[in-house]
Amino acid sequence: MTDLPTITHYVNGAPAAGTSTRTAPVYNPATGQVAKNVLLASTADLDDAVAVAQAAYPAWRDMSQARRQTIMYNFRELLNARKGDLAEILTAEHGKVTSDALGEIIRGLEVVEFALGMPHLSKGEYSENVSTGVDVYTLRQSLGVVGIISPFNFPAMVPLWYFPIAIAAGNTVVLKPSEKDPSASNWLAELFTEAGLPAGVLNVVHGDKEAVDALLVHPDVQAISFVGSTPIARYIYETAAKHGKRVQSLGGAKNHMLVLPDADLDLTADAAVNAGFGSAGERCMAISVIVAVEPVADELIAKIAERVKGLTVGDGTRNCDMGPLITQVHRDKVAGYIDIAQADGADIVIDGRGVKVDGDPNGFWLGPTLFDKVSVDSAVYLDEIFGPVLSIVRVATYQEGLDLINASQYGNGTAIFTNDGGAARRFQNEVQVGMVGINVPIPVPVAYHSFGGWKNSLFGDAKAYGPAGVNFFTREKAVTSRWLDPSHGGINLGFPQNQ
Ligand code: NAD
Repeated sequence: MTDLPTITHYVNGAPAAGTSTRTAPVYNPATGQVAKNVLLASTADLDDAVAVAQAAYPAWRDMSQARRQTIMYNFRELLNARKGDLAEILTAEHGKVTSDALGEIIRGLEVVEFALGMPHLSKGEYSENVSTGVDVYTLRQSLGVVGIISPFNFPAMVPLWYFPIAIAAGNTVVLKPSEKDPSASNWLAELFTEAGLPAGVLNVVHGDKEAVDALLVHPDVQAISFVGSTPIARYIYETAAKHGKRVQSLGGAKNHMLVLPDADLDLTADAAVNAGFGSAGERCMAISVIVAVEPVADELIAKIAERVKGLTVGDGTRNCDMGPLITQVHRDKVAGYIDIAQADGADIVIDGRGVKVDGDPNGFWLGPTLFDKVSVDSAVYLDEIFGPVLSIVRVATYQEGLDLINASQYGNGTAIFTNDGGAARRFQNEVQVGMVGINVPIPVPVAYHSFGGWKNSLFGDAKAYGPAGVNFFTREKAVTSRWLDPSHGGINLGFPQNQ
């Protein structure tokens, strides 16, 4: 293990070793082998990075928008040109197949492109003559140093949801990525340096709870942006808010797809398979439960099962449909839900434990798994499983399905499949979920709308990217101004009234 490469922090425009010698293993999930180790920062390491970001802030804040946007544009061009290199890193550390890796980078690129509009997005408002000779205008100014904490499942996209907008708005950043797949963040920060970003504007500090806690309480950190599981999202929100920071904190999910009897079942089955098993189900917008309004279930299950048989599982670089799970521990936890489903009386339509993968016997494999007749009291239904496991719950009516979705503690995404526009419109109005798809299984909003759920999927009221992101990374300052008019007793500048 000692001969393995060590992933360092990236601070002040260069790799940084810090003082802590604690490390965590980074696996290649397809082989099951430790490929690298990553440094885990101490509080002192984190404090050093914040000091660097704080020192870089005034010059970055005061740089002209034109120069800042040129750097942003260079970053966009480099990222687009080299996205294949980043995709390789994602597949090697996360395990997702190349097409999923490229997909997440493209969704991140969209946010960079959105941030290119920052001069327009942050230009404020102006009201002339609110009283005689008095104007009021509102500026949007940056905050200072902002902290970003991201999860393992989108090691490029989630940091890209946040730091392009934060930086384009004039803030400086300390990013603490997931310790499970940390290399993508270093790669992005190095690329931004190459694009012309001044040293210290984007810093990456690797670590675990110690680094996160240091970020949450640091007096020079003005805002915290988080994405991860619900218990940690709640903790982040409460702790950072207690320390006077603004917080956007996105949590876990359990997304339902409601299928009405009139739905196009081929379209629905394609959507269910993509949304349930894409990225091995490790997506916060994955469909986890299909709520089938009878008599649709038998036919739909047959169509899903037929498609699942055609899915290939294997190393993400080898043109498969689905890669491994992130760690052995997580793989075993997800597989444990198959035992729970059996004990709780569900029908196991497809059991992913039997999956065969050529060449890599030690990878963290679990094949697509399908349960029918899942009890809504079972942990299989209630928990966020975060793996390639799709549950079917049968209901008699639209209302029964809607009530089930609205009773969930989560409210991230949902979808309805139907050919009835009236039913879809009613669902859009009545469902207690933050992002809704109508015949679209994964309704992730484009970058110029905002992303975020309701209930235990989002703490606080600040969503990610889009207008909400601009709002979050800037603060308004209202100025009320009166200038003496030369025509009323000032010096004579030759205005007609003075003559
Ligand atoms: P996680 O909550 O375990 O970790 C997220 C981050 O928090 C990591 O950087 C981790 O180092 C840090 N962390 C973990 N435990 C901590 C602790 N006790 N104290 C302080 N910091 C801690 O999440 P994960 O397993 O990396 O990611 C998967 C989860 O993220 C799923 O629940 C998924 O639904 C969620 N997610 C949500 C969204 C969304 O948009 N709502 C998007 C992606 C992922």
